[in-house]
Amino acid sequence: MKTWVYIDHFKGEVQPSSWEALGLGKTFDSVTALVFGSGVETLVKAAFEYGADEVIVVDHPELGDYRAEPYASTLSALASSHTPDLILLPTTARTRELSAMAAVDLNSGVLTDVTAVEVNGDQIVFTRPIYEGKVLEKTICTARPIFVALRARSFPKPPRQEGRSGPVIRAEAKVDAQSIIAGYSTTEASVNLGDASVIVSGGRGVSNNPALGLDEKATAQKGFELIGELAAVLGGAVGASRAAVDAGYISYAHQVGQTGKVVSPDLYIACGISGAIQHLVGMRNSKLIVAINKDPEAPIFQQAHYGVVGDLFQIVPALIAAFKKRLGK
Ligand SMILES: Cc1cc2nc3c(=O)[nH]c(=O)nc-3n(C[C@H](O)[C@H](O)[C@H](O)COP(=O)(O)OP(=O)(O)OC[C@H]3O[C@@H](n4cnc5c(N)ncnc54)[C@H](O)[C@@H]3O)c2cc1C
Repeated sequence: MKTWVYIDHFKGEVQPSSWEALGLGKTFDSVTALVFGSGVETLVKAAFEYGADEVIVVDHPELGDYRAEPYASTLSALASSHTPDLILLPTTARTRELSAMAAVDLNSGVLTDVTAVEVNGDQIVFTRPIYEGKVLEKTICTARPIFVALRARSFPKPPRQEGRSGPVIRAEAKVDAQSIIAGYSTTEASVNLGDASVIVSGGRGVSNNPALGLDEKATAQKGFELIGELAAVLGGAVGASRAAVDAGYISYAHQVGQTGKVVSPDLYIACGISGAIQHLVGMRNSKLIVAINKDPEAPIFQQAHYGVVGDLFQIVPALIAAFKKRLGK
């Protein structure tokens, strides 16, 4: 099976799950990485080091900014002439539109958020969660090439082999597009919850510590400082429930759940979060869930592998101290 892997990046910063896609591609056969952009030689090198057997590179000044039209036209033109069977991508906002547009050009199909792949004779069965993770859908796609976007952290990232290299094919860009990027502005600090291996999240409970003698918002600020410190000690990211976001304790970029991010870290620590279904759908695929809550009846304990019934303002500092000692920090 001829397998391609699209290396997704924003101005040279690679979406790490692109490497997970390369790792999956290697389990089928040899794999070709696709690198589009302007001045992308370091990405070509990285693609080989993460396992690509060949790289098709399209390096053009007009591809310096990601835009759906030229990227999709370039991808579909390449796929028409080289006829791959399978094009793997990480699932991101960019790849959702890119793969959809290219698939329309090629009259083919797209599957996003794929979490498992199984080869059954000459068929490949793709699994992806639907209905907020309540049902796992198994799909076989008969069209070629199949565009398959993988959910981050669902497949292992291959080890990097420094200095590994291989053949590079330079291809032409299709840059006839109706839009140009006029500029970017950032609205809030970027939070990459999707790729975090550890997430420590806070809920409404972070605002509840009468002993501090502070108002609700100031208490929540102290609570999130503790959560941030625990996340930092563990090399993780800070998440939040919608109640914490709606109350203005933390920005939306941190929200986990149905209307926030869907995450699957190795470790998810929920602090002062009750475990409403809309929160659970965003984090229940985490490999290890630890819940800290004052209420022993909180539904989060039904999902947690480990539960601590107690006040997060006591438990989190104790965890920070214990992890610092254990990790020699
Ligand atoms: C359409 C829709 C979409 C939604 N999308 C999302 C979403 O994406 N993400 C999301 O999270 N929610 C979402 N919600 C909201 C969801 O229903 C809940 O309201 C929300 O998750 C509750 O957040 P919480 O657990 O922080 O707050 P609460 O339910 O109020 O729970 C707070 C918890 O903190 C505990 N606590 C209090 N003080 C302490 C303390 N000092 N130490 C330890 N524990 C303490 C309490 O016992 C309680 O269990 C959505 C709702 C709707 C209707």
